Amino acid sequence: MGQLFAVEVVYRGIFQKTLAKNITRAIVLAAHQEGKPGISFGRYSDSPERNGIPAKGFAIVGSDDVTLEEGMAKYEPKEVDITICVDDTLCKGVESWAWYGLQPINKLTKSNGTLIVTSREEPAAIIAMAHRKETPYKLSIVKGTPSFSGLWVYKDDHTDVRILGAIAELLPGLFGIEALKKVIMDEWKDPVKAQSAEKAYQRASSVTVSPNQGNPQVPYKFELPKWHEMAEGVTIPALPQGHAMKDSTSGASGGIQPERAKYFKKFSTRSYRPVVDFDTCIKCTLCWLQCPDTCFDVTPEGLYDANMEACCGCGVCEAVCPVPNCVTMVNEVHFSDNSSQWQSWRKNKDSYKSWLKEKIATKPAEREHGFRYRGQYAKEVPEMLAIAKEG
Ligand code: SF4
Ligand code: SF4
Repeated sequence: MGQLFAVEVVYRGIFQKTLAKNITRAIVLAAHQEGKPGISFGRYSDSPERNGIPAKGFAIVGSDDVTLEEGMAKYEPKEVDITICVDDTLCKGVESWAWYGLQPINKLTKSNGTLIVTSREEPAAIIAMAHRKETPYKLSIVKGTPSFSGLWVYKDDHTDVRILGAIAELLPGLFGIEALKKVIMDEWKDPVKAQSAEKAYQRASSVTVSPNQGNPQVPYKFELPKWHEMAEGVTIPALPQGHAMKDSTSGASGGIQPERAKYFKKFSTRSYRPVVDFDTCIKCTLCWLQCPDTCFDVTPEGLYDANMEACCGCGVCEAVCPVPNCVTMVNEVHFSDNSSQWQSWRKNKDSYKSWLKEKIATKPAEREHGFRYRGQYAKEVPEMLAIAKEG
C-alpha cells in the first residue's frame, strides 16, 4: 500500500463553513498538483449544519488511486495526520450531534501528528484547554483572530491560505509550497494571498505536547442504545419539572433549576459566555425569558444564574439586559470550568467582584466575531492581513 494522508478541519457549523471547505478543497488540489489523488468531504452526520455547533470537514489524499480507494472504504478517518481547529475555543472539546458526548479536539490526531489552531493565545493556553492524549502530538498556532464567516458572507482575511502554508511546512509529503502557490493563483488569482501562504510557510513552527500535558478531565460520554434495545416507534418523554436550587453557602433552597437534556449539553457550541453581575441585577427576568436555551437557573433569592453546561453563547442575555454591564459576554478561552457563577458570588462577593472585573477587562471595545454591520469586514480584514504579513 502507498502512503495515505488524512486531514480534518474542525469548525463552527455555518459560521465557518466556507473557510473549512476552502481549506479541504485546496489541500486536495495542491496534492493533485504533485500527482496525488484526493477527495474532500464534510462529515455526513453534521448535516444539516447548525449555527456554531462543531462540525468537521476532511481531506483524504493517497499516493496513488488504489491507496486512496482503500482509505476511502471507511465511513470517516479513524485517525488523521493533521487536525485543524479554526476557532481556539473548540480546543475545549467538541460535541456534535449528541451522539458521542464530548470529543477531545485531538482525539483523531495520530501519534506525533499535528494540531493546527488559529488563535491569539500562546501554546500553554491551548495545551491547557485540550484534553490529554496517551501519545504525543505537535501543536502549531497560526496567529490571528478566529475567522467567523461562512455560508453567506466570506471574510477573505487569508486564514485559509495561512493554514495551508503552515501545512506545506509541517507535512511536506502532502504538498509543497510551490504546488500550493500554484493552486492559490489558479483558484483565487490573488498574489497577495500567495504571499500570505508563503509567510505562514516560512514562519510555521510547532511544540511537542507530551502525554502528561493538557486538560486532565475525562470528557463525558454515554452509551448509545443498541439496535435491539430500540422500541418500536418513537416516544419523546417530556422533561421532568426540575428541582429547587440549593445555596451551598447558606444551605437555603428555592428557585428552580429546570431539567435539561442529559445527552446534549451544548457548551462546546459557544465561543463566548455571559458573566453576570449579581450585585447590579434588578431581577427584571428578561434574560430568563429571552434565553433561547432555557439556560438560566432561578436562585432562591430570585436572581438568574446562566448555567454553563447549557449555555450556547448566543449573547441574547447581554443584548436584552437593561442594566449597563450587568451581563457581559467574554471570550471562552478565559475560563477553565463550567461552575456556577452565582454559587461563587454567594461564597465571597468581594472575590467574585474582582473575578468579574478581571474577566470583563479582557473584552475588546468591539465584539470580536460574527457579522453585525455592513462595512465591518472591510474594516477588519486589513488588521488580519497585517498579522498575515508579519507571519
Ligand atoms: S448567551 Fe445568554 S441567552 Fe444565550 S444561551 Fe447563553 S445564557 Fe442563554
Ligand atoms: S436581564 Fe439583567 S437585570 Fe434582568 S434579570 Fe437578567 S441579569 Fe438581571
